[in-house]
Amino acid sequence: MRYSGFTVIKEALRGHKGWKPAWRDPEPKQKYDIVIIGGGGHGLATAHYLAKVYGFRNVAVIEKGWIGGGNVGRNTTIIRSNYLLDGNEPFYEFSLKLWEGLEQDLNYNAMVSQRGIINLIHSDAQRDAFTRRGNAMILNGADAELLDAEQVRKEYPFLNFDNARFPIKGGLAQRRGGTVRHDAVAWGYARSADSHGVDIIQNCEVTGFHIENGRCVGVETSRGFIGAGKVGCAVAGNSGRLMGMAGMRLPIESHVLQAFVSEGLKPLLPGVITFGAGHFYVSQSDKGGLVFGGDIDGYNSYAQRGNLPVVEDVCEGGMALMPMIGRARLLRMWGGIMDMSMDGSPIIDRTHIDGLYFNGGWCYGGFKATPASGHCFAHLLAKDEPHPTATAYRFDRFRTGRMIDEKGMGNQPNLH
Ligand SMILES: Cc1cc2nc3c(=O)[nH]c(=O)nc-3n(C[C@H](O)[C@H](O)[C@H](O)COP(=O)(O)OP(=O)(O)OC[C@H]3O[C@@H](n4cnc5c(N)ncnc54)[C@H](O)[C@@H]3O)c2cc1C
Repeated sequence: MRYSGFTVIKEALRGHKGWKPAWRDPEPKQKYDIVIIGGGGHGLATAHYLAKVYGFRNVAVIEKGWIGGGNVGRNTTIIRSNYLLDGNEPFYEFSLKLWEGLEQDLNYNAMVSQRGIINLIHSDAQRDAFTRRGNAMILNGADAELLDAEQVRKEYPFLNFDNARFPIKGGLAQRRGGTVRHDAVAWGYARSADSHGVDIIQNCEVTGFHIENGRCVGVETSRGFIGAGKVGCAVAGNSGRLMGMAGMRLPIESHVLQAFVSEGLKPLLPGVITFGAGHFYVSQSDKGGLVFGGDIDGYNSYAQRGNLPVVEDVCEGGMALMPMIGRARLLRMWGGIMDMSMDGSPIIDRTHIDGLYFNGGWCYGGFKATPASGHCFAHLLAKDEPHPTATAYRFDRFRTGRMIDEKGMGNQPNLH
């Protein structure tokens, strides 16, 4: 069923009796050409591109819970491509371009909103660093704009510009950045993959890998064995636990990250802003809630809930940047599990086990990567070679020392 204004009008006239479920609920088959583990954004996007771009139809996505129950439905919805390093910037710019055409590609309203993002500058050294980053972005075909304090003030007059400790001296803007309705991304990819024949199997947990003579031939699940020509793993915060079942120890730690939403307010924030002197960033949803977050909780966990010290830290950041936020009431908060890699950059690669492929290490920036990650993982699974924009995301960089350490913080997941 094609979604359109015409379909909405037609259905309105027929009492909305013609809408069909957006995807099927099939029983697992005995064997698939490709099995993707993880029905988050990355797993579903991989299935979509495998089917639509690479022509694979006999594909299953296996999800232990429900579509959108993981980080894809828990993040703060920000998309951008404002990276510095060669390994990252072309990849995230590729992703941003895919976001720009996503709704047409999926025939689904994901509420892609390029309302812009501004990283605030609070010191001369930070201005130098952001100037360098902006130049790297432009060299890679992205957009970047350096703003002085007055230009920021015009857009966000209510920020605390003259805070003695954290004066706002300007900002690095990316106008093509913005927000996307996060769970609509999961639903849109799921619907499209399903319409191309992909089986999306929810409430089915992978509990082990079937490995014969060094080759992965299928997965054990809570609904029985499912055979596979190839298996792709895209389980984000559960990466360590899942790959442990294949005997692998990853350069990844799992940490909790929290998100917060205030009561609905009148339109206030035109775009996304990030505080450059502490862990705080904020945007406003189309429903009016201020959507904000900060740093990870800082201890290893698989629990999808956070703790109070970070709530206090995030609120302090918010009050320092935008004191009036103290008058808004908090409506909701939640946590998600982040797969924090040791250099802060992701992995899309084959493993040492034939037929077993891995996608993970997205840290707290994997939502914006969803389209490119799915596209590049599908390319790897289909062709057994990395997509040109993802050649740097290999496992062996941790052995050879070719780290993609975007922020120069080394192997400290709590700092990324
Ligand atoms: C609070 C918060 C804010 C964030 N903000 C942003 C942001 O603004 N911008 C940004 O770019 N990124 C952001 N992120 C990061 C981003 O959400 C993640 O990096 C990204 O969603 C991870 O990929 P995914 O969507 O595939 O993960 P998920 O949605 O977590 O998908 C993984 C799936 O695998 C399933 N799974 C796990 N184990 C198994 C198993 N054994 N068998 C079957 N299924 C299994 C899980 O149930 C889950 O559904 C944020 C994350 C959080 C938590």
